[in-house]
Formats: sequence, C-alpha cells, structure tokens
Amino acid sequence: NLNEKLERSFQLLKGQGRITEINIAETLKEVRRALLDADVNFKIAKSFTEKVKEKALGQDVLSAVKPGEMMVKIVHDELAELMGGQSVDINLSGNPTVILIAGLQGSGKTTFSGKLSNLIKNKRGKHPLLVAGDVYRPAAIDQLKVLGEQINVPVYTEEGNKEPVKIAQAAIKQAKANGNDVVIIDTAGRLAVDEEMMKEISAVKKAVSPHEILFVVDSMTGQDAVNTAKEFNDRLDFDGVVLTKLDGDTRGGAALSIRSVVNKPIKYVGTGEKMEALDVFHPSRMADRILGMGDIVSLVEKAQEQFDAEEARKLQKKLVKNQFNFNDFLKQIQQIKKMGNIKDLAAMIPGMGKALKNVDIEDDAFKHIEAIIHSMTPDERNDPSLLNGSRRKRIANGSGTDIQEVNRLIKQFAETRKMMKMVSQGKNMGRMMGNLR
Ligand code: GDP
Ligand code: MG
Repeated sequence: NLNEKLERSFQLLKGQGRITEINIAETLKEVRRALLDADVNFKIAKSFTEKVKEKALGQDVLSAVKPGEMMVKIVHDELAELMGGQSVDINLSGNPTVILIAGLQGSGKTTFSGKLSNLIKNKRGKHPLLVAGDVYRPAAIDQLKVLGEQINVPVYTEEGNKEPVKIAQAAIKQAKANGNDVVIIDTAGRLAVDEEMMKEISAVKKAVSPHEILFVVDSMTGQDAVNTAKEFNDRLDFDGVVLTKLDGDTRGGAALSIRSVVNKPIKYVGTGEKMEALDVFHPSRMADRILGMGDIVSLVEKAQEQFDAEEARKLQKKLVKNQFNFNDFLKQIQQIKKMGNIKDLAAMIPGMGKALKNVDIEDDAFKHIEAIIHSMTPDERNDPSLLNGSRRKRIANGSGTDIQEVNRLIKQFAETRKMMKMVSQGKNMGRMMGNLR
C-alpha cells in the first residue's frame, strides 16, 4: 500500500547526512511511483514530487533533524496541500438550508444522510428534516425511516409518489412550516452513471437550488471513484465530496486523486456503518494517516521550532536514568510555555493523550508551580527526596502557596517522572527523541 511504499522510499534516505539533489532523486522517484500506484493522476504526481524536491533542497538543514524525517515532514505537508490544505465546512446559512445528496447506488448516500443529520443536530444545534427521494425502491424509504427513528430526526416520505422534484419541493414547504432549518434530500443512485439518473438529479437541483450538493463515493472503488466523481461534477457541479467506507485500513489514494481531479473539497469521511461513524475531513490528518504516523509529524514540527537538540538529548538520558529533577522540570515548563498548551502538546505523543487525562495541569497553574520550584534550594531541586515535612512547609510559605499545593506538585512531579520514564523507554518517544539527535 501507499503508506508502506512511502516508508520504504524514506528508508533510502536513512543514514544520509544531508539532503542533496543526488540522494533525494531515488526517494522522489519512489514517492512518485507510490502516488501513481494510488491512482494519482500522472501530472499531479509529477508536480507533487517537483514541489517536494524544491522544498527539500531549499531547507535550511537543521542538524537536529535527520534528512529522512525532514522529507517525511515535507511530503506530509505536500500531501495535505494536495488534499486542499484546510478543511472546508458545509454551508448551513440557508433558512432552511437545502442539502442534496448524490452518488451511485451502494455508495452510502442513505447512511450518510442519516449520519449528517445526526451530526448537525447534535453538534450544530440544527433541526434537520430527512427527505426520502429514492422513489424506486420501497426498501430505500423504509431504510431512511428506520435511521430517522434511531437518531430522532423526522423523515419526509410520500408513498407512491414517483416524482423526486415534487417530493423535494413539498418537503421544503413542510420544513418551513415545522421549523426545520436543514433539509437533507437523499436520492436514488444507479449501479453506473446513466443519463436518466443524471437528468433526475439535475432536475431536483434546478427545482430546489440546494445550498450544498454533496457527492458520496465509496473509497474502496479506487480509480472508479475518481471517474464517477468527475462525471457527477461535470453534470452537477457539486460542492463537496464525502468519502465513505474509510474504516479500517488506509485508503488514502481516493482522497488524493478525487481532490486533485475534480478540485472540490472532501468534506466528510464515513468510517463505519453506525450513525456516529462520520468525521469532518482534515487534510493534515489524512496525510498523517497515509503516512501512518499519528500526530508524530506535528510533534517533530513543534520540537523543531522550539527545542534545543542538545537539551533534548540530555533530557532523554536523565529520563531513562530517572535523574529528572525539579530544575529540569522548570526548564521543561519554560520550553512548554513557549510551545503552547501543555495538554495539547503532550497529547500528540502517541499513547500520552490517555495518560494525561487524569493528570491535572492547568495553564495558569504554571505560575504556582514555578513559584514553588523557585522557593526550593538548589539541593532540593536536584534531589526531590530531600523534601520532608518541614522543608515543604518552608517552601509553601516562601512561594505564597499552601502545603497541600506543594504536596500536590511533588506528587505530580513523581508521577510525571514515572510516566516520562516509561514513555521514554517506549518505542514512540524513543523515535521522537531519536529524531532530535
Ligand atoms: P446508498 O445506496 O448510496 O444509499 O448506500 P447505503 O447508505 O444504503 O449504504 C450501502 C451499504 O454501505 C450499507 O450496507 C451501509 O451500511 C454501508 N456503509 C455506508 N457507509 C459506510 C461506511 O462509512 N463504512 C462502512 N463500513 N459501511 C458503510
Ligand atoms: Mg440509498
């Protein structure tokens, strides 16, 4: 798969001291091949690798970061750029907002219609109305009714009416009467693009002027997904793409190709059959996923900006030997303050997010922490085990805090030290620190 291929191409750079035109040539070739194999259009793959090359050669080579890692980061950023860079929201400005759902049969339109109404109801405070516009199969109407009941969203149906245009118009009228601020129109699809289907959905588009037309496509269909997207876009000029069935393994190829071929943003990804299995599409996260590295990229990036490599190496040694002390802690706090919110930051370390849920560190809590550490003697900072009851009382007085706060910090420090030691011996943290060497 794409991920493995890209990884292999980065391996080629391992052990290289610097990025040069010669030593990245092979990597770039591999990257291009991987993209082509993922059905990315030839021209796009070519300009992609050219951009990567340009960026890589233009990099101020930081001695702190290995060229391989730097290439990963550059490729990551370019992948995200190829998928649009930013996530794009749907337009919910109408009153009511009309959203038309298009796509082939089995692509996941009905499921997505349910998921989307569930999402905007729960997260955006909307009152959606679902419309059963697939008039050919009675089962399709029932399917939408069942979903609507499940998520507590009303469903507009007209048994026996075979005119989707009329149904859609009547549904909008009802939405206005009942105070539904979003109307989501599910439509019929065929197994392949055909003229009748296109005429029908174009007619609905013309009749109701949707604020948003979303094209739903099964991400498992590979190159077909791209061709279908193009045909639908030529006819409907849709506003966004929904990639379904992106659960389980990575299939980033479709995301890359569709975006670059039709030049419309991917707005959502479906990740399962359940009504909750819908995510807003984030190009950067999809790039992470394609490269299979979690959020390690952003961590490297932040570290690159703020961390002193030498410091980091020393720190890791101390962590492993459990010599991490309050002086280091203070230095870390200062580093972290420069980098932003501590929880956000630490949560980027794979495995850390969960561990940190129960550790209570507020941003302005730093003030007290710093005051407490400043009230410690150098010996105490170096060797926290010296901190007995009377010393703790003295520190509390000196820092203008109270004994409970001092105790809490010392306890948190001990826990942090234990956790950091664990993480630093684990694979991921090791890798992160390795990047900084
Ligand atoms: P439609 O014909 O376009 O309306 O497609 P449906 O919504 O009926 O979906 C077709 C099948 O795909 C159903 O069995 C859905 O449960 C399944 N499905 C839809 N979206 C997803 C998804 O994101 N992940 C998975 N695993 N299955 C999905
Ligand atoms: Mg359907």
